[in-house]
Amino acid sequence: MNSFNEQKRKEEEKAREKELSDLFKVAVSQPKVPVGVDPKSILCEFFKAGQCAKGFKCKFSHDLNVQRKGEKIDIYSDKRDDGKLMSLLV
Ligand SMILES: [Zn+2]
Repeated sequence: MNSFNEQKRKEEEKAREKELSDLFKVAVSQPKVPVGVDPKSILCEFFKAGQCAKGFKCKFSHDLNVQRKGEKIDIYSDKRDDGKLMSLLV
């Protein structure tokens, strides 16, 4: 009786571990690349998680600095674009 319960407990533990690893897999996914955007300007999500097996063949960037640079440029260019758009409308 005891060994049966133990077996059942072990199976439940295994199932929970599998569930967790599945969740982790889902949590790491590549960002969507907008049309006209170079994937090399986007940091590889798998690389960030230490899971990218593609190495230098990966179409995303493995340079941890690339995302920070990209974000800054995006913020400024967005503001500029808004300004242009506003002046055109007025
Ligand atoms: Zn990668």
